[in-house]
Amino acid sequence: MISHVLPTYNRAPLAFTKGEGSWLWAEDGSRYLDLGAGIAVNALGHAHPALVATLTEQAGKLWHVSNLYRIPEQERLADLLVDKTFADTVFFTNSGTEAAELAIKMVRKYWSEKGQPDRTLILTFEGSFHGRSTGAIAAAGSEKMTKGFGPLMPGFKSLPFGDHDALRAALTGQVAAVMIEPVQGEGGIRTLPDACLKGLRDLCDATGALLVFDEVQCGMGRTGKLFAHEWAGVTPDIMMVAKGIGGGFPLGAVLATENAAFGMTAGTHGSTYGGNPLGCAVGAKVVEIIADDAFLSDVSRRAAQFRQGLEGLVAAHPQVFASVRGQGLMLGLKCTATNTDVVKAAYGQHLLTVPAADNVIRILPALTITEADIAEALARLDRAATAVEQAV
Ligand SMILES: *Cc1c(COP(=O)(O)O)cnc(C)c1O
Repeated sequence: MISHVLPTYNRAPLAFTKGEGSWLWAEDGSRYLDLGAGIAVNALGHAHPALVATLTEQAGKLWHVSNLYRIPEQERLADLLVDKTFADTVFFTNSGTEAAELAIKMVRKYWSEKGQPDRTLILTFEGSFHGRSTGAIAAAGSEKMTKGFGPLMPGFKSLPFGDHDALRAALTGQVAAVMIEPVQGEGGIRTLPDACLKGLRDLCDATGALLVFDEVQCGMGRTGKLFAHEWAGVTPDIMMVAKGIGGGFPLGAVLATENAAFGMTAGTHGSTYGGNPLGCAVGAKVVEIIADDAFLSDVSRRAAQFRQGLEGLVAAHPQVFASVRGQGLMLGLKCTATNTDVVKAAYGQHLLTVPAADNVIRILPALTITEADIAEALARLDRAATAVEQAV
């Protein structure tokens, strides 16, 4: 008999009742160290006091009014994002998938309004992930996500990751946009080198194609900059944001330049919940805390500590771990053992990690994780690796 909850997830037999910082409490009262942070969502950890205060204060005032009216909390969050980024304008969504949908629509509208309605092709990359809507699965294109859900939305071509010649050949004057994650998350924490992002920007400039960054997972301070593309010194025309921006409250956004948003006039897009006062009040607090030089330097310092420890684990457990990848606190351990066995062994040590493609386990802790908690996490991961070694 089918479970009452649609069984689309392979869930671990764990349920949590309380969280604080980088720790979660299970139903049986035991404590787990959380290196997944709800898949890079709880950027400030669980129950961050400033977020709890902001949420409860706003909850007592106003939750939802609809975009039929001005929403001061939404305007404030848009002001903050425009002030801190390349963007001139922002649309708020409730998830990353919805942000991907709007990014795709914005690209199509742009070329339609520019008098080239047939210029619809969006180039994407193997291993990418943009969400689970019909548009987002067509964009990523993998068999795993699309099988049985055809016919797929047309207008996408997926290129091999890191193949410059294939990209150069595909990026003709007919291409509408290139959509890419500066650091692939689900694809196995694969970082696009800065030189490649720069080259991509140059190719887009040469052909007029719009450059769309999906920073749903790698954005919001995760790599040690507010957005990952800042490391390369290039900016996109359109960017999708979600996950960390709400700190656990469902919130997403599409950021765009004035040029790219050309054509997105009244009536061309909408959302009932998107940009509601509750979500935007929380989002503004998250952005305020993360978009701060001292906070971001702390992320980089913690990242260096974590990475060094992980390199040590790779050296100590070659039968389990092959290498460390990623940037900032978006880290991946490429495994020699089976990644899901390592994730399970980590559960045994009351440590939460997240599997990804390419036989990787992801380490995406709260950006506020302490030095002591990183040391504890490394000790638990060491014991988990030993358990995996003993099992074979
Ligand atoms: C998670 C994710 C999405 C989809 O976000 P949802 O909030 O699950 O809809 C899109 N792009 C990337 C890079 C992601 O990691």
